Amino acid sequence: MSTDVLLVNRKVREVFLSIRKRVLDKYDYLPHTKVAYCFQADMEHDKSARQYAHWGHRKNTICLAHDIDKLPEANLRGIFLHEYGHVLDDHFEPEEGTDEEDMADKLDDIADGEDRADEIVSVLLGVDIEYDDNDVQREVTK
Ligand SMILES: [Zn+2]
Ligand SMILES: [Zn+2]
Repeated sequence: MSTDVLLVNRKVREVFLSIRKRVLDKYDYLPHTKVAYCFQADMEHDKSARQYAHWGHRKNTICLAHDIDKLPEANLRGIFLHEYGHVLDDHFEPEEGTDEEDMADKLDDIADGEDRADEIVSVLLGVDIEYDDNDVQREVTK
């Protein structure tokens, strides 16, 4: 096990690693992403209870509020998938002449970064994200 994720709660870490594997197996050129608790994420969560994570604050890191430990696995999966939507939004390189190119064009038309993250996950990873009663991401299981 690499040391970059050891600081995070075991359940959170295991869900993160499974999502990371799923994403990196398909898009192996993405940066090696890690997770870490973040004081700023805690403050954002205090202000808005549905906020548990953010991307873009620390290099190649999905930052987490400590309260994420309390969430059920379906929410953890939804949150990590959504954050990987942001990672892909930053780093996705569609192969020329493939369906991925058309998808990338379509994604350009979605102005809102949060909507785009979910759409990217749906289109590129084939997983849908829904929002539960607390407006927290959740993976839709088929
Ligand atoms: Zn952060
Ligand atoms: Zn987001």
